[in-house]
Amino acid sequence: MARKNRWGLVEDDEEGAPEAPPVPCWLCERPLGETSEWHHPVPKSRGGKGRVALHPICHQSIHANFTNAQLGRMGDDLAAIRAHEAVAKFLDWIADKPADFHVRTNKPGRQRR
Ligand SMILES: [Zn+2]
Ligand SMILES: [Zn+2]
Repeated sequence: MARKNRWGLVEDDEEGAPEAPPVPCWLCERPLGETSEWHHPVPKSRGGKGRVALHPICHQSIHANFTNAQLGRMGDDLAAIRAHEAVAKFLDWIADKPADFHVRTNKPGRQRR
């Protein structure tokens, strides 16, 4: 039986790591894949309580394009985040990628023997 917490998500029974919750990604709105990450749109220090689930790649994109201070100012103003030029490009690019698409951290080209 699937248990749900107050967020409407399946509880993390195992490692405490976020498992693909049955919600779309906060940033790109594609379904989440096997892995997802939590992001706090409003830092706790600013009274934020909520967290949202993101594709790891979308989470990266947010933190690559905004400083924590900027994120704190924008809070959960998704429109402001999406209006950022680099983020808009990213969203355009990721739109047709599969849910589990990741950018590899290993540089390609060194795997040849
Ligand atoms: Zn996403
Ligand atoms: Zn984050």
